Amino acid sequence: MLENYTDVDVFVENLKSRFEAKLNYTYIRNILISINPFEDLGTFTSDLIDEYSNKSLFELPPHLYAIANQAYYTMKEETTDQCVLISGESGAGKTEASKQILQFLVAKSTDTGKAVMIRDRLLQSNPILEAFGNAKTTRNDNSSRFGKYLECQFDFLGEVVNGRMMTYLLEKSRVTTQLTGERNFHIFYMLLLSGDDALCRDLGLEANKLDYRYISQGGVGMVEELDDHSEFLTVMSAFQQCGIEEQERLALFRACAGILQLGEVDFQQQGDMAAVSNTDVLQMVAAAFSVDLVGLTHALTSRTVEARGESLVKHLSKDEAETTRDGLSKSIYKRMFAWLVERLNASFGQEYTEGRSTTMGLLDIYGFEVLQSNGFEQLCINYANERLQQLFVNLTLKAEQEEYEREGVAWVGVEYFDNKIICDLIEDAKSGIFAALDDTCLGPGEQGDDVFLKALDARFGQNKNALYSSWADNKKLQRDSFVLKHYAGDVAYDVAGFVSKNNDLLFRDLVRVMLDSKDTVMAKWFDESELDSKKRPPTASTQFRRSIKELMETLMVKQPSYVRCIKPNQQKHAGVWDQELVTHQVKYLGLMEVLRVARAGYCYRRPFEAFYQRYKSVCKATWPSYPGPLSEAAKLIADTLKVDESEVAVGKTKIFIKQPKTLLALENSLVL
Ligand code: ATP
Ligand code: MG
Repeated sequence: MLENYTDVDVFVENLKSRFEAKLNYTYIRNILISINPFEDLGTFTSDLIDEYSNKSLFELPPHLYAIANQAYYTMKEETTDQCVLISGESGAGKTEASKQILQFLVAKSTDTGKAVMIRDRLLQSNPILEAFGNAKTTRNDNSSRFGKYLECQFDFLGEVVNGRMMTYLLEKSRVTTQLTGERNFHIFYMLLLSGDDALCRDLGLEANKLDYRYISQGGVGMVEELDDHSEFLTVMSAFQQCGIEEQERLALFRACAGILQLGEVDFQQQGDMAAVSNTDVLQMVAAAFSVDLVGLTHALTSRTVEARGESLVKHLSKDEAETTRDGLSKSIYKRMFAWLVERLNASFGQEYTEGRSTTMGLLDIYGFEVLQSNGFEQLCINYANERLQQLFVNLTLKAEQEEYEREGVAWVGVEYFDNKIICDLIEDAKSGIFAALDDTCLGPGEQGDDVFLKALDARFGQNKNALYSSWADNKKLQRDSFVLKHYAGDVAYDVAGFVSKNNDLLFRDLVRVMLDSKDTVMAKWFDESELDSKKRPPTASTQFRRSIKELMETLMVKQPSYVRCIKPNQQKHAGVWDQELVTHQVKYLGLMEVLRVARAGYCYRRPFEAFYQRYKSVCKATWPSYPGPLSEAAKLIADTLKVDESEVAVGKTKIFIKQPKTLLALENSLVL
């Protein structure tokens, strides 16, 4: 009984001994803690899916299938929408867990009719999205570089009838830069190692060449753990199953090929302007994107600016042209990914019918991140985690509250850290950090990151907000950074790049060129409205804030189940336990908080009948049987065991006991 422990070390010790016994799943109440074993423990078989089906949560050892089963059957029996929220740091096993839950869910559908197609498409969308959205990082060979929320829709028979995905914050900077030991998105390597030389040739690529600038900065090409060639075949077959047509596949490949070639384009300074030094390469880019070479050349080396109603052409310097080139690559990739997600959504069903059936959501989203250097992306990710934590506390407490009310049991609210203040600090529409960033981005002229930091200092520094500090407040901190007190710990954010990342603008000249692409699929990734200089698209932080708000609203009305994933070591080795690393995650995942919330209420609850059957032998009055109501019998048993009056509550259908110590006493008394 894990609730018994207050000390984080004791808790981690307990996880460790289970891990050593190859038990990688543990419950705290109905929350599943999953430790990545980095080896096949034989835990995912169709026999086990059968075994866990239709069982109540605690009947069998902890397992993902037990969580999936509980959510599925509650959804079906009680006609309530469900969601499973999976969190954990990179490499902890979130994506594998979400895939297994999906496997369990689709196994519940019959093998006939439309359900088969939807089921296959839901499953096959995974290799496609992973090819375009996952990459090898130092922490995970198959790291999801985007957050994902998948909602499956079921009819009243429990058959899957539709699906819909939302994705969050694709890490597009990876398209042009990778850290040492990391790769670009898998698809680039898959294409080059596809073995389909004709395809590569048609795309203007040199097959097997892995030293294109955009994919070789991390110094790794082929890696042992990844078979890019066979993955390519898997993706091709998945395309087929999901009904992605040849013209669409080609557009995806041509976009990737064009991006690879674009990375090879060089500029040289000629007087006050940049000029392309290898036009033959740019010609291949233009061919891949089916755009006009002259227009593309202009758009990469100059920029039209509107001033006092007049259009002026401003020449770009070599540096500016390079930034523009990389900006175009990232923008095309991001748009391609967004289109692909929508395309897959369309392949699941005709129309997503809201409210007519029940849904099950699966959230696989990056956990709290504290890196060596934390930037705009980390702030977004950590903000999302704050919101999820808030939701978690609210929903857990709400569910508790409701059960007590239903049972007529009095209870006093739990004291917990309400992280609303940090959420407000970041998101407040008028005075939050994102608002300050938007002010800087939308203000007059081109303002830099330093202006943003000054604005933050003015608003929150000098103890105006206890959760904020910067160099101006504390000279021990780094310059050009600010520190936020998150629920999971302090994080220092480096302001470099905040303004340009939040602006996230693609110059209109480039939009114009791409809109005119003869590739009808690719042209759809751009919109005429982007050409209107008076209209500004919402900033990246505004878009992110909106999508997280929407996600929270979606999750709020569902019954949640939780899976918290933990990575036992950094080396990705089986059987290796790093105590410090795990302890860190236990804290960051808010697990001690979970324990506290769990402990504050009545940890033990059982229907009278079950309780009576199990313990009637310890009490004279109830053995061998009790003639009166079972609620009385349960209370008598508790009295016999000297469970303190304040520790017990008798509800309408269940007996509640506060501390598991008393429960353990009960168990001990049985042994005696
Ligand atoms: P990221 O945030 O980087 O996407 P993640 O939490 O999604 O990370 P996964 O990709 O699910 O992590 O897992 C990382 C790797 O760990 C997998 O590729 C797989 O090799 C291994 N792994 C994860 N879960 C299991 C499991 N239950 N059994 C065996 N191996 C696993
Ligand atoms: Mg993942």
